[in-house]
Amino acid sequence: MSQTEFDIIERYFRPLGRGRPETHLGVGDDAALLRLPAGQDTALAMDTLVAGVHFPEDAPADAVGHKALAVNLSDLAAMGATPVAALLSLTLPDFDARWLAGFADGFGALAGRYGVDLIGGDTTRGPLSVTVQVVGSVAPADALRRAGARPGDTVMVSGSLGDAALGLDRWRAGVGADDPVVRRLHYPEPRLPLATVLRGRAHACIDISDGLIADLGHVLAASGVGARIVAENIPLSPAFYASCPPQYRLEYALSWGDDYELCACVASAEAGSVAEAAAAAGVPMTVIGEVTREPGLALLDQDGRPLDIRTGGYRHFDARQDPSP
Ligand code: ADP
Ligand code: MG
Repeated sequence: MSQTEFDIIERYFRPLGRGRPETHLGVGDDAALLRLPAGQDTALAMDTLVAGVHFPEDAPADAVGHKALAVNLSDLAAMGATPVAALLSLTLPDFDARWLAGFADGFGALAGRYGVDLIGGDTTRGPLSVTVQVVGSVAPADALRRAGARPGDTVMVSGSLGDAALGLDRWRAGVGADDPVVRRLHYPEPRLPLATVLRGRAHACIDISDGLIADLGHVLAASGVGARIVAENIPLSPAFYASCPPQYRLEYALSWGDDYELCACVASAEAGSVAEAAAAAGVPMTVIGEVTREPGLALLDQDGRPLDIRTGGYRHFDARQDPSP
């Protein structure tokens, strides 16, 4: 390790290991030591963000720091786990003090809000890329897996979908990071408050990183069931509604991803209390459809007619288009 890397770690990253009771030893030794509560399962997740692939090359530095941690915390939320610590592997093209300070600010602000200690990592030189691993804890019976959805369950989704996709369009068109949908692209909010709501209530859960269709599809495949969702029920934010061209609305909301909302399948009798508890936790959850015994994911309009799952358009040339009587 060169002197510069040592300086970077001391200056920007050691201060982010705040010292939770579980952190027995943080940044500075050959390995960190964690002491997790007895009887809890350790939840581990890791995601890499590559510049130009997972975030725009010109994204603000603090947005990169925020997002690198946020996408990982989103995985813990989807698992029903409580975050404890994070490891950060950072590959940097050069030493840029301003960029590093911004990155550490974005990472540190989010870590601070959820009490996550940065306990270690690696710092190397190369094309900009950020890998974060998070450590969380969850009671074995409470983990929210992808398998477990049952026919008749209600499908619910948090917040609103499509903002990040529209945000990328707007960012590329020169709209600033203070625009509400551009903010959703750069500063996704991990839905950790919902982990508490869904633990012990949801039969299955996933976070939406690749679009509702793809990610709900993973839940359905893992659970051996299907689902019907209603296009009009997909929650869209007022800002999205106001600035997305109508013909792209459903495609952005269903297929693009990067929103990091949660999608959960809950017993239909529980849907009302989940919605109430979610609203009380500050993140609304909306009913978008139901789990079916027949496999496959169908997108319907309000009258039950099938829509094209990718674009939300009518399936004009599809034999299965006829609504069932
Ligand atoms: P080693 O050579 O033993 O792997 P390093 O020189 O890579 O150790 O790192 C020294 C210490 O700094 C370790 O505790 C490591 O976890 C920590 N560290 C390195 N890079 C980062 C980073 N980007 N963020 C947080 N901690 C880091
Ligand atoms: Mg190392």
